[in-house]
Amino acid sequence: MAMTSGCTVCSKKLHSQNTSGLCRDHFRTHKSPDVAAKRSKSMRKHYRENPDFLAEKREHMTRINRLPEKRAQASVNAKANRIWEISAEKWTPQKEARRRSGLSRAALPDLPPQYLDLYKSLKRKKLLRPERLRIAREQMAIDRERRRRAFAL
Ligand SMILES: [Zn+2]
Repeated sequence: MAMTSGCTVCSKKLHSQNTSGLCRDHFRTHKSPDVAAKRSKSMRKHYRENPDFLAEKREHMTRINRLPEKRAQASVNAKANRIWEISAEKWTPQKEARRRSGLSRAALPDLPPQYLDLYKSLKRKKLLRPERLRIAREQMAIDRERRRRAFAL
């Protein structure tokens, strides 16, 4: 590879005799997928053990992803990659089982986990189960419609 002045991944300054075009860090990752896997594992551990760090990161990414240009690009990418097909394809029985195991013991087989908090808050408001389910499902329909419209931009 031709000599470059900076790492092709992170543009860190390289030694004049560098031939790979990568800094030491990226050369290691590049050479062995194990290093990348190990790194990913330790990052997951770090996130797990530091909820504040995770929350901060999430908030940061949420803020970035809400920027109009990011949203527009995400819409373009989603349509180009036909993500609705990919996700349907990858939805395995194991994933379905895992989704269901995340539900409370209140036996809500057809309520997606992301609506569980809403459901619980309605319970605290002393609404009856059929009413709670109706409201949660209405919210699901609203969200589905919103997603559909976002993709149809
Ligand atoms: Zn680098």
